[in-house]
Amino acid sequence: MNAIRDGWFSEINPMWPGQCMSLKVQNVLHEEKSKFQDILIFDSQSHGRVLVLDGVIQLTEKDEFTYQEMMAFLPVNSHPDPKNVLVIGGGDGGIVRELVKHPKVESIVLCEIDDRVLDLCRQYLPSLSSALDHSKVKVHVGDGFEFMKGHKDAFDVIITDSSDPVGPAESLFKKEYYELIRSALKKDGVLCSQGECIWLHLDLIKNMIDFCKELFPSVSYACTPVPTYPSGQIGCLLCSLSQKTDFKEPVIKFTEEEMELMKLKCYTPAFHTACFSLPNFAKKVQS
Ligand code: SAM
Repeated sequence: MNAIRDGWFSEINPMWPGQCMSLKVQNVLHEEKSKFQDILIFDSQSHGRVLVLDGVIQLTEKDEFTYQEMMAFLPVNSHPDPKNVLVIGGGDGGIVRELVKHPKVESIVLCEIDDRVLDLCRQYLPSLSSALDHSKVKVHVGDGFEFMKGHKDAFDVIITDSSDPVGPAESLFKKEYYELIRSALKKDGVLCSQGECIWLHLDLIKNMIDFCKELFPSVSYACTPVPTYPSGQIGCLLCSLSQKTDFKEPVIKFTEEEMELMKLKCYTPAFHTACFSLPNFAKKVQS
């Protein structure tokens, strides 16, 4: 369980063989094995507080905003009236923190499998988790796959903020899960899922996009930088029940005043569009 050697945490994992991100540890705050996964929280020298699940960095205080803002606003601003949003995973609260700021979002349900992630993030990562207690938010503890089975025609937007496809999140990368999302979405609903990294998992991404194209009339893939994720980038897989959705062009465009008010550090309408321009080697995922 302990990936800390000589004062450095190293993210050594067969999902990215031969490479790893290392962070100098200042202070280990918490370590435990929950019912679902190993949980480690530490203060780092350079990136603030860090959450690690099963040896994989989930977030650092320094760069988490890029992931949260893009995973929240790429889908929500691609929907003309995103009133009801469901987040699967995301127990740190970061995506919910962004969603509660959105003027059109009225209610958010968060379904996280591991109550220990919720408790520990409330204790050690208040800059992310404080929004979990916002009046727009309902928190449910349970498996996202099972939760989806019980909901039909219920949400305008569904965001899957999961860990990687090993361990508790494995089912969230399967076609069956996307079939359940399709039924849980309202008419013209939009989904966004953590879509792994083009530098490491192009085949997995291509496979997911292919089965999504069988289920949804509009499918696209965006990338955003997250320096502490493996290879420094993460993908967002986006699908819509409306053929008219052009994900590259947000239908809700924040003004400068709104972005200032919402204290956005990454998302802008221009960056929204730019995220869909993939490097040449990765474009095959979209064709
Ligand atoms: N990458 C995010 C960030 O930058 O803030 C953090 C990812 S978030 C911590 C991933 C969460 O998904 C974890 O808390 C994990 O417990 C949860 N999760 C994994 N499998 C799940 C499932 N089947 N249903 C619901 N939540 C799940």
